[in-house]
Amino acid sequence: MKITEKVRSISRKAKTPFVLMDLGIVEDNYRRLKNAIPDVRIFYAVKSNSHERIVNKLHDLGSSFDVASKGEIEKLLGLGINPSMMSFGNTIKKEEDIKFAYENGIDLFAADAEMELEKIARNAPHSKVYFRLAMGETDSDWPLSKKFGTNIEHVKDLVVYGAKLGLQPVGVSFHVGSQCYDKYSWQVALMKVADIFWFARLQGIKMNIINLGGGMPVKYIRNIPTVEEIGEVINESIEEYFNFMDRPTLFIEPGRSMVGNAGILVSRVILRSKKDMTNWVYLDAGVFHGLMETIEDLRYKIVVDGKEDHAKRVFTLAGPTCDSVDVIYDEVELPEDITLNDIVYFVNAGAYTVDYSTNFNGIEGPNEIFMEDLPEVIEEELVEENV
Ligand code: PLP
Repeated sequence: MKITEKVRSISRKAKTPFVLMDLGIVEDNYRRLKNAIPDVRIFYAVKSNSHERIVNKLHDLGSSFDVASKGEIEKLLGLGINPSMMSFGNTIKKEEDIKFAYENGIDLFAADAEMELEKIARNAPHSKVYFRLAMGETDSDWPLSKKFGTNIEHVKDLVVYGAKLGLQPVGVSFHVGSQCYDKYSWQVALMKVADIFWFARLQGIKMNIINLGGGMPVKYIRNIPTVEEIGEVINESIEEYFNFMDRPTLFIEPGRSMVGNAGILVSRVILRSKKDMTNWVYLDAGVFHGLMETIEDLRYKIVVDGKEDHAKRVFTLAGPTCDSVDVIYDEVELPEDITLNDIVYFVNAGAYTVDYSTNFNGIEGPNEIFMEDLPEVIEEELVEENV
């Protein structure tokens, strides 16, 4: 999302921090992904930004949804979304949440462990299950294969065990790691999925759903492959590795790539200091208030309003809470004259910001403001309420 004059004028007037979102960009992201992979069914990963305006927008566009908990399911049901459009993709579910999902009509669950299958069989008998395959090392900013997924041989065991428990093994999912820079990671994964499908057929179990997970990147600092380039690798891999069966049904669970570039986090400098040799800048947003992903050193593009061309120096950038973990970056280049009340933009911060935010220290996290609402009326309201 670009820092336009409109963005600047709102940012100068409104109470910070907040995330400015543009639903038009969400729509473009959805359509591009749809075009890049023929017949793919999109399950938006609600966790990345669960604001109801975004969920409603994607629902209108025809999206399905990847949900992680009872809370997310309740929210979506409350918005009138049919349970047949939801997949319970969290591999670590509370039994009561499985039961709730089942009783409300969800019949698609992820698993990567025997005990999880047993929980599903007990609380959602005969449901469809897909098995999460772990990836090896991938070039991604937020790897998701240590805690989630399991190795190929274990997945094969789980397929057989799931069938034995009376569940319907329907497919395999994987996640190449969030913000993945290597388009060939999807190829490596698909080769392994084909092996599992082939094995299952030999056991008389016909699986045909491939859940391509999330992982598609947005532009922060490093160059990224486009969604079209990733789509091409996926399409070619499907042709190459799955010619022993009818074309598999493709699901995909994008979070970051649906909303990341549709938002800007706007914050303000509340303190600058020098201690020993270190120059510190403190903002009204930090690790506990929208910038959680920086703890794994996810690097946002940072712009300081009106000082874009000023000479830079290295600062330590931190958030407002009384916790020493609340350091955004130990070292980051900022304008050397950055000072109190300067507005600081974190570009393409529409994903995993507001939903990660806490009320720690009694400090309010960023709320979301939609560009679509801004013209005139809302702009006036914002200014009156917040300044
Ligand atoms: N699917 C599952 C099961 C996830 O856990 C996640 C992210 O944590 C996603 C999809 C979305 O991934 P991304 O935001 O990288 O697209």
